[in-house]
Amino acid sequence: FADRNGLIWFDGELVPWRDANIHVLTHGLHYASSVFEGERVYDGEIFKLVEHTDRLINSAKILGFEIEQTADEINKACWDTIAANKIVDGYLRPVAWRGSEMMAVSAQQCRIHLAIAAWVWPSYFDPEARMKGIKLKLSPWKRPSPETIPTQSKAAGLYMICTLSKHEAEAEGYDDALMLDYRGRVAEATGANIFFVQDGKLHTPDPDCFLDGITRRTVIDLAKARGIEVIERAIMPEEMANFTECFLTGTAAEVTPVSCIDNYKFVPGEICQQLIGDYENCVRRKVAA
Ligand code: PMP
Repeated sequence: FADRNGLIWFDGELVPWRDANIHVLTHGLHYASSVFEGERVYDGEIFKLVEHTDRLINSAKILGFEIEQTADEINKACWDTIAANKIVDGYLRPVAWRGSEMMAVSAQQCRIHLAIAAWVWPSYFDPEARMKGIKLKLSPWKRPSPETIPTQSKAAGLYMICTLSKHEAEAEGYDDALMLDYRGRVAEATGANIFFVQDGKLHTPDPDCFLDGITRRTVIDLAKARGIEVIERAIMPEEMANFTECFLTGTAAEVTPVSCIDNYKFVPGEICQQLIGDYENCVRRKVAA
C-alpha cells in the first residue's frame, strides 16, 4: 500500500504518499504504542467525524499519551486530506504513535506523531450479493479482560488477536472470524460488532471488553426508530442455535449479513434488509442520524 500516488497528512504537512515514512526504531512499531481510526467518506461527507476524532484522542489518552493537535485541528486535517486527494467516496485512516526518540519500554521522551491517509473506496456493492451473507469461523483466540489490556482503546496492539483469528478463518475458506471473550461469551468479529435476531428482536453483546462501535450505536438507534427492540446482554455461543438472522456492523463492514458461524446457520431476512437500507439512507443523509 506504500507505493501509490497521493498525499498523506503527516505531522502538519501534506507529503507525497511514498515519502510518508518513519524510522525502524519507532516505539509504536516495537511496543505497539499506536492508536488509529477508520472512517468513511460518503458523497464528500466524513460520516460521524466528530465521534471518530474524539475516540482517537481518547484511545491515545487511555495508552497514556496526548495527541498534540486539538479535536478541531484533527478534523480540519481530515478534511484537508480528503480534499488534497479529491475523495468523494472513500476511507480515512488517522493514526497516532510514539516516535523514535528513545528505545526502551519506557517512552517518556518519545514525541507523539499523527498521520492521516485517505483513499478512494466506493461503498456500493450489489444488495443481492450482500444478502447472501458471509461465513464466520469461531476463533480459538479470545478477547482479553479489561484488566489485561485497555480494551476500550482502538489500539494497534489489540489487533494482533484479530489478525491471528482472521488468518486462521481465511485459511479454512471462511470470510472472517467470530471471537469469544475471556469468559467464553460471544464478543465480536475481527473488525466489526455482531448482532443476532430472535422473534423480531435484536440481541447484541454488552461491549464491556471490546469496542462499542460507532456503527453499532448508529444501528441500535436506527432499529429503535423502527420500533425494533434491542437487547444488549451477555450471549453464550450455544444460544446461536436459537437466532434466525445475524449481521456485523462496522465502518468498513457497514451492515453485513452473516449466513453461518461454524455449524450455526442464519438466513439473512427482513431485519437485515431493513437495517442495510436504513444505514445506507443514514450515511447518505437521506434521513436523520
Ligand atoms: N470492533 C473492532 C475490532 C473494530 O476494528 C471495529 C472497526 N473500528 C469495530 C468493532 C466497529 O467499530 P466502528 O463501528 O466504530 O467502525
